[in-house]
Amino acid sequence: MTENIVGQINSDNAEFAVSEESKRLNEANEAFMAYVGSLEGYSELDENSEGIKSAGQELIRDFNIAPSLFEKKDEALIFTSLASLSADILKTGERGVEIDRMREFIADAAFLLTMDDYTKGGELDELRAQQESLQGESEDSKTQLKVLNKFTDPTITQRLTRLVESQGLFHEVNEKLGLSEQDANPVEIHVLSIGKDHDSVNFDHKANGLDWSEANDWAVGLKKRADQFVREFPNQSAELAASASGFAMQLDGQQHIFLPFAEANVLLANEDDVLINETTARPHGIVGTLKHEYTHAQKNVRRGRFFGWSIEERRAEYISGDSGEYYDVKGFFNNLAVLTGEHVNSIFNTVGEERRVDTDDQTYGKLAKAYGLSNLVKIAAVMPDPYIPHLKGPIEPDMQVALGGYRSIVFDVAAGLDPQEKEEAKVRLEEKISHFEERGLNVEVLLEVLAPAIQALDYDTAKK
Ligand SMILES: [Zn+2]
Repeated sequence: MTENIVGQINSDNAEFAVSEESKRLNEANEAFMAYVGSLEGYSELDENSEGIKSAGQELIRDFNIAPSLFEKKDEALIFTSLASLSADILKTGERGVEIDRMREFIADAAFLLTMDDYTKGGELDELRAQQESLQGESEDSKTQLKVLNKFTDPTITQRLTRLVESQGLFHEVNEKLGLSEQDANPVEIHVLSIGKDHDSVNFDHKANGLDWSEANDWAVGLKKRADQFVREFPNQSAELAASASGFAMQLDGQQHIFLPFAEANVLLANEDDVLINETTARPHGIVGTLKHEYTHAQKNVRRGRFFGWSIEERRAEYISGDSGEYYDVKGFFNNLAVLTGEHVNSIFNTVGEERRVDTDDQTYGKLAKAYGLSNLVKIAAVMPDPYIPHLKGPIEPDMQVALGGYRSIVFDVAAGLDPQEKEEAKVRLEEKISHFEERGLNVEVLLEVLAPAIQALDYDTAKK
């Protein structure tokens, strides 16, 4: 029977293609239904499960979504979030600029979420090829590693690796993540022999046995090599990497952390107080950078190439002791905490605790429950400010514009609150302001950071 049908289809290629396509569509729909059926504790699904299912099926058809997407738990939830957002729009039946903006976001996000899964021959093929070539995706990680190794200073790398090991610098990070030493990914540290113009100031020339003018030449050399590195490193983020205070990458199946020369040198010059002297801001900050990058190498919550960046940066900052910047990301999550009473850091804590008793990583599920299923995909899609200028077209920047940044998401989360929850949010806001006043801190700064939540709640700050 089966053989007979296959024989018939093979005799007509067009018919065969249609049949394969509809088989794939059916499989994807079934996988989505099964996935949604397995979800529990989402109020949006309790209220509008049929609407979300049919919006999801529409997205599956329009974007040729592969059944395999639903084998990836977090991607499946991000997709369900898109379906929920789409169902919200259909339910309100409203029209206008804002709705058009959200539709554009849904289309961009659906495309980027599933870009890897498209089969050849679809009408989205050309767009996909364009996107991938702009991202430099054709370069493999072996070539990237080769360039990074070329610019690695072996002596300083060895000294820094020994320092990190002898001081047990990553032990505390593993603890917070709920990871045993055996479960943690081994990480290779590299000190890159590159730097910025002003790095001569940070260079401990005496410790390196150089006089001042030799040290100056060395610093000029660092800058020159940084420029050369940008030219040779086959990655869309070459410039970002060359100017970063540190970065992490998984290359050729191994986790790596990269630190620029000047930063590593400051740590080595302060070898004795790396752990104890938190008052020396610079070494402390560099230890924070190392821990931040190490966190990225453990249970990273980025999903696909375009989702989870803000969540991951907030996680790395929290776990590493909040010594770095990313003020935009931190401010964003502080606004969500005021609105919902749930701080993302407490979600990271719970995930760490749960990991100790060996349950699944539920970060995305917890985010969706705290901030709304329809908002999850937006929180996953929104990029930290420093990354935005480095996005490559045509879809990546468009998605950010359609999303409208952190502020717009804060308004969306606020719009999902009922009157009672809004009152509770205002109480939290008042408590925060009082707390700042009691400690003699600058309330103006707080009001500026929380301005989106304050406006979204229509809270009168002069009232107090
Ligand atoms: Zn980071």
